[in-house]
Amino acid sequence: MTNQLHAPLVWFTGLSGAGKTTIARAVAGQLESRRIPVEILDGDEIRSFISPDLGFSRADRDLQVRRLGYIAHLLTRNGVTALVSAISPYRDSRAEALQASKQGLEVFVHAPLEVLRARDTKALYAKAARGELQGLTGVNDPYETPEHPALMLDTSEMALTECVDRVLELLRSKGELGERIA
Ligand code: ADP
Repeated sequence: MTNQLHAPLVWFTGLSGAGKTTIARAVAGQLESRRIPVEILDGDEIRSFISPDLGFSRADRDLQVRRLGYIAHLLTRNGVTALVSAISPYRDSRAEALQASKQGLEVFVHAPLEVLRARDTKALYAKAARGELQGLTGVNDPYETPEHPALMLDTSEMALTECVDRVLELLRSKGELGERIA
């Protein structure tokens, strides 16, 4: 039987500082103002509460993505839109996690490295440049760019409001929330 409740999963992937969390929060605000149930699953937050056992090896990153995907699955099957904000660097694990929800939408949040270095909101890029941080995705750890994302947002060129509008448009075009976010 079809679960009438199912809600979409929007998976924001991209390098640190690209804008995933900022966009996810703004999208969540838009949905909340329309009384649409929504939760943000933030990679950093889930790491501290649910995955303190995990580091940044490929196996640990993959397991972190699997945990995020499973929580998103629990939410979306109960009608809560899940907005995942996590670097999630590996294609295969993202694909697997996205499939766990009925409507999984991959959103690639991108900005060139020089822009990320200039933003450096968490001071990670400076730390890596000083040789004090190993395994920073995009610098000295791999990032597998999405091949067919539902949406690509270049935050070096697009304002936050435009990024948010594009995500809302995507949700609307998929008809999952149609009449509710018109
Ligand atoms: P991430 O979650 O990808 O690590 P954050 O959202 O924490 O990134 O940080 C992104 C930074 O970039 C914030 O300081 C935000 O204000 C800034 N920024 C600039 N332009 C944009 C945009 N168009 N969309 C989102 N964030 C932007």
